[in-house]
Amino acid sequence: MAMDTETPVILITGGSRGVGAATARLAAAKGYDVAISYASNEHAALAVVDDITGTGRRAIAVRADNGDPDQVAALFAEIDRRFGRLDVLVNNAGIIARQSRLEDVDFQRMQRIFAVNAIGPMLCAQQATRRMSSRYGGNGGVVINVSSASARLGSPNEYVDYAASKGALETFSTGFAKEVARDGIRVACVRPGHIYTEMHASGGEPGRVDRVKDTIPMGRGGQPEEVAAAILWLASKEASFITNTFLDVTGGK
Ligand code: NAP
Repeated sequence: MAMDTETPVILITGGSRGVGAATARLAAAKGYDVAISYASNEHAALAVVDDITGTGRRAIAVRADNGDPDQVAALFAEIDRRFGRLDVLVNNAGIIARQSRLEDVDFQRMQRIFAVNAIGPMLCAQQATRRMSSRYGGNGGVVINVSSASARLGSPNEYVDYAASKGALETFSTGFAKEVARDGIRVACVRPGHIYTEMHASGGEPGRVDRVKDTIPMGRGGQPEEVAAAILWLASKEASFITNTFLDVTGGK
């Protein structure tokens, strides 16, 4: 089959569930071919791929641990092989761990949270830069980093390690945006607030959004599709003069 070189290609890390899956589906509806990565839930990843290919767009799912440089490199090599281009990277993959006070957070957990949430996006951005940057003959592109309102709020008594990893991601986002601004790459950061996804179950409280929703000025949690819409607007040509910016999708929190 001849390679389609016209259609823009988007990579969404952690695209099998939650915000990433909603972003993948909306991206396909907006005309992108889509690559997603995932950690272990192949069934969910393939369901996203099926939904997208059912609409006539191309999609691939690649199992790639965001915290492992070799797997990240293999992910981008697979995109080269299957699509031959990359226009947008959404650094969405992220993890929390069980709600705890700092005293109960062990070193391995801290390392893992930072490896996936803060170092992984830098590894992916490094790979994307080599493909997008005009310095290397690329046509430019967009990198969207998915942070969290927790970078501002700190997540006390729940996961300060997670919040700190998102703070690191945000500082990276600023520096990287400035570094590549003249190389055709725009960089923006989206900060979701409390969103209805399965992430809260991995913190030990599946119903967390409903518990905290009265603390949100709009009085409700957000849907993954509402975050996806912000991500894809920032990635679009409508946002052509926007870089090094942060967009909260929090219902006002
Ligand atoms: P989610 O529903 O738990 O989904 C997480 C996704 O990331 C899944 O596709 C998962 O793959 C993938 N993933 C997990 N670990 C990975 C790894 N090591 N390597 C690659 N992929 C990995 O999470 P979500 O709520 O959609 O969160 C998406 C992003 O939004 C995260 O960065 C999160 O920090 C941020 N965020 C979420 C909220 C919220 O309230 N939900 C609030 C603020 C910020 P598998 O399916 O294989 O497990």
